[in-house]
Amino acid sequence: MKFTSYSEDTATWAEDLVNTYNVVRAVEKMPDTTALADLLTAHGIRLKDALTSKELDTARALRTALREVFCAPAEEAAVALLNRVLADHHAVPHYTNHDGQPWHLHVATPQAPPVDQYAVNAAMGLLGVITTTGMSRLHVCDGNRCEEVFVDVSRNQSRRYCSPQICGNRASAAAHRARHRAASVDHHDSGS
Ligand SMILES: [Zn+2]
Ligand SMILES: [Zn+2]
Repeated sequence: MKFTSYSEDTATWAEDLVNTYNVVRAVEKMPDTTALADLLTAHGIRLKDALTSKELDTARALRTALREVFCAPAEEAAVALLNRVLADHHAVPHYTNHDGQPWHLHVATPQAPPVDQYAVNAAMGLLGVITTTGMSRLHVCDGNRCEEVFVDVSRNQSRRYCSPQICGNRASAAAHRARHRAASVDHHDSGS
């Protein structure tokens, strides 16, 4: 799925951070600065110094703010939240032709604090999706006790679950059990 060239690479950054905490089961998957460092480097952000606990707090606050975007009732609210993320994390629009690429827009310099770099890229990724196709691609998983978030980049926008392997399978197993129960009730009814 092609959004703006900017958000093609960063559309999933927000969900990658938001899903480090499961709000239903209160499971913390980003327990320390090491886990945060892993998340940042996995997205290509270079770390010069060890991360501080204050930066971990900032990342967790960002996580809460980005979850709100997925739960926002309408585009206006979502865009307002993302504009605030851009401002809070000191977005600096500038053009660059690094690594032999054509001139293109960046919103964070490599010198910016790492969590700020992550924040503005994640915000630009979601803004690219929302401003191209609206809110319809931003989802909270339908799975039982899940509530993980995802951007549906599939062509026909048919995704309902964070993971077809986990929540999708669980849901179809539950539906199967429900059908089985209904069938056995019918059976007893007809037998009486
Ligand atoms: Zn670039
Ligand atoms: Zn799920």
